[in-house]
Amino acid sequence: MSEPLRSCCVCRFKGTKANFVHIVKSPDGIAAIDIHNKLQGRGTYLCFDPVCLETAEKSGNISRALKNAQIPENFWNDLRNIIATRDVNPDFTRAKILTLIGLARRSKSLIIGTDNIKQDSGKKLLVMFANNASESVKSFAQNFRDNFQLDATIEELSNSIGIASSVQIIALINNSGFAKKIKSLLHK
Ligand SMILES: [Zn+2]
Repeated sequence: MSEPLRSCCVCRFKGTKANFVHIVKSPDGIAAIDIHNKLQGRGTYLCFDPVCLETAEKSGNISRALKNAQIPENFWNDLRNIIATRDVNPDFTRAKILTLIGLARRSKSLIIGTDNIKQDSGKKLLVMFANNASESVKSFAQNFRDNFQLDATIEELSNSIGIASSVQIIALINNSGFAKKIKSLLHK
């Protein structure tokens, strides 16, 4: 049986409950962190990416998602502590990177396949390949200073991009928002 998917109120990353902090609006209208997953009421989810926490703090996403819940004084510090000391879910980084790749594809900023990558090879690229890509694709990737093997098969990579044909290798412009985000996730 599969667990229902939640989504981050900032980045829209989708995953099971273990990837998120649950925040609810208490009956008196105050935002509360639902550490033990027991609180009732209108709720929202924030993923474990510290960038999402920063964004939420600046943007007011959480208060809005909770219909103008009041944010108590220690809320952001408590949230920071929870995210900093969390038990890292090993699937989180992997799932988040695949989600970012899917979003990059939808925003038309993903470069797919060796031919397209060759055409853009004058630009600085972040090149990523499936863990079961062919040897020739893997050695092609070595031509780029920023390249790494994804923790995903050709099939998983193709699925996250949402195309039926098998994708072995992809790239992003190295200083794009998506590339920066992926690199910040990897350096943890
Ligand atoms: Zn997020």
